[in-house]
Amino acid sequence: MSLVRTEAFVLKAIRFGDTSVIYRLFTRDYGVVPVMARGVRRPKSRFGGIIEPFRRLQVTYYSRDNRDIQTLSGVELVTAYPAIVESLERMDAAGRWFRFLRAVLPDHAPAVAMFDLVPVALERLCRTPATRASRWETFHRLAAVAQLGVTPELAACVACGRPVAGSQAPSFSVVDGGVVCPQCRRDRTGCRSLSSAEYALLNLYHHPDYGLLEQLDDTANGDAKVRELVREFVRYHADLRSGAA
Ligand SMILES: [Zn+2]
Repeated sequence: MSLVRTEAFVLKAIRFGDTSVIYRLFTRDYGVVPVMARGVRRPKSRFGGIIEPFRRLQVTYYSRDNRDIQTLSGVELVTAYPAIVESLERMDAAGRWFRFLRAVLPDHAPAVAMFDLVPVALERLCRTPATRASRWETFHRLAAVAQLGVTPELAACVACGRPVAGSQAPSFSVVDGGVVCPQCRRDRTGCRSLSSAEYALLNLYHHPDYGLLEQLDDTANGDAKVRELVREFVRYHADLRSGAA
């Protein structure tokens, strides 16, 4: 048995018995780790009020190789993101994104790059207007699966490899994972046409700089359609477990 100390976010909480909770933690150093917090629902618990969703935590737990659930021994708050829980829309978006992370995270393997995305994403959500929370969530679904190597091809036709930027707006094939030029589109089914505005928007969802998407106003043309396209792409190409709509 060893005592482990690492940063973590709560992915899920399941009540256990009268006073305990099993937390599914996303830890920085060990990936997803379920821990038992004994007595956490007692009024005077030393964990109470600290271990909550959408908080960056420092946790210590006793780890045994032959156990599925480890035993939580301590928890400290690193960062709270109060602007998230002050808004229903932001909290809802964060909840959906965390369910999504739970569905894509590998079991028993560290995912450090994805972990490091979480505090960055939550800080951005705090300054995102409530009306754009869904845009925030879609952008960060794509950013999360990019850490697993799942990215759409937007610069060159997935069929012939010719560059598409600057030419006529291409189509997008969810199944093929990228854009299709007008010539190749003729003999493919299931391609979605994109206007130039929608193609530009799709590039913003894929761009490493979230600031570009943040500058767009609420009425950007085709935003709902592009969001749906991104979500379909992610659903199709990431290895999703159940629970991520
Ligand atoms: Zn082509």
